[in-house]
Amino acid sequence: MTATGDRTNQSLFDRACEVIPGGVNSPVRAFGAVGGTPYFVDRAEGAHVWDVENTRYIDMVQSYGAVILGHGHPVVVDAVSTAAADGTSYGAPTEREVLLAEEVCARVPSVERLRMVSSGTEATMSAMRVARGFTGRRKVVKFAGNYHGHSDALLVSGGTAMATLGIPGSAGVTEHAVADTVVAPYNVVPELDEDVACVMVEPVAANMGLIGPAPGFLEGLRDACDEVGALLVFDEVITGFRVGRSGAEGLFGVRPDLTCFGKVIGGGLPVGAYGGRAEVMDTVAPVGPVYQAGTLSGNPLATAAGLATLAMLTDDFYSQLAGRVACFAAGMNEAFERSGLGWQVPTVATLSGIFPGVELPVDYAAATACDEQGYARFFHGMLRRGVALAPGAYEVMFCGLAHTDALLDRVIEATAESAAEVVSG
Ligand SMILES: *Cc1c(COP(=O)(O)O)cnc(C)c1O
Repeated sequence: MTATGDRTNQSLFDRACEVIPGGVNSPVRAFGAVGGTPYFVDRAEGAHVWDVENTRYIDMVQSYGAVILGHGHPVVVDAVSTAAADGTSYGAPTEREVLLAEEVCARVPSVERLRMVSSGTEATMSAMRVARGFTGRRKVVKFAGNYHGHSDALLVSGGTAMATLGIPGSAGVTEHAVADTVVAPYNVVPELDEDVACVMVEPVAANMGLIGPAPGFLEGLRDACDEVGALLVFDEVITGFRVGRSGAEGLFGVRPDLTCFGKVIGGGLPVGAYGGRAEVMDTVAPVGPVYQAGTLSGNPLATAAGLATLAMLTDDFYSQLAGRVACFAAGMNEAFERSGLGWQVPTVATLSGIFPGVELPVDYAAATACDEQGYARFFHGMLRRGVALAPGAYEVMFCGLAHTDALLDRVIEATAESAAEVVSG
């Protein structure tokens, strides 16, 4: 597609706002937190996106982590088009579903059986149901600032007075729906009792900026769960196949009972999956009594994209990417320091983030005490310099195969200039 005179970001956004709430199909895409008009993407290739006005950006969003090989990777495009030519959904099982489940089970030691769904939200929602079905218990413990998709019981955002009172974090969620959700501070092992079905955690928190697990935190959760017979559920929707070959489980050597996947595993197509110990997963229908289903689950296009993507994610890939991200983060940190802004760039393996503040946070309360207004100015400075960051201070940066050192150097340069702008007001 090519841009035409009246096909501008503003004109599309104005039209979008008439027919789509807020003009966006996911609130994280809105520019509410940073101000201005979202760029409407026309096309993308590798590390770049072009908007409808033909402005090119180095893209650090990468579909919020769903795309790790870069946009439109030819191997993925080829796999998807080949699959599409054979039909896009059947309502009957296919070979690719078997191959993908085998691949995940081979990579992730704790996963013996896997069920595919169509989004991360479905994965976490279903894992929670399985945990309750398996244990016969009702309570779910989650951590403030961890995001597990938008199902009623898990949407409790935590970190606010509302959450601790058990009042829903979203309108439309009844108190009843969250009555069995307990919110605890991240990086502290909570006290559990025998009503707890599961503890769900982002093993690396990547939805309140980037916060790694404190030493002993994940191990502590494992022990606490074992003590009371609760299941440990890792939400690896971001970290799965992103921080390493076998995700955060491999990185930290802690085995959960259930794991949720999404994003990378779909190679940029709508996907989710959850899996774990055979004994636990065998409570899922049609083997067991926990019902969970999906018309498009294990979709041929999504499994084709996922398989093509995973095939390229070798140990070598991850060590290269982690090395590149470490250099990049060091460069960004230096740029922030020189500017006098002193903002921090945390990294965990291949993930990095921008913390608009001087002291790295370890939990949600500290994460939200950051300079949001400064971030908004910084964001626009970067955008003007051709670098697209997420339009919110709490998202991480997604470097992938397509982000060459040369491109990342340009991001560092843009950071130095944009940071100086923020300092000078
Ligand atoms: C994105 C995300 C989800 C939700 O996945 P969707 O595909 O957007 O439903 C769940 N958990 C984590 C950690 C995520 O980052």
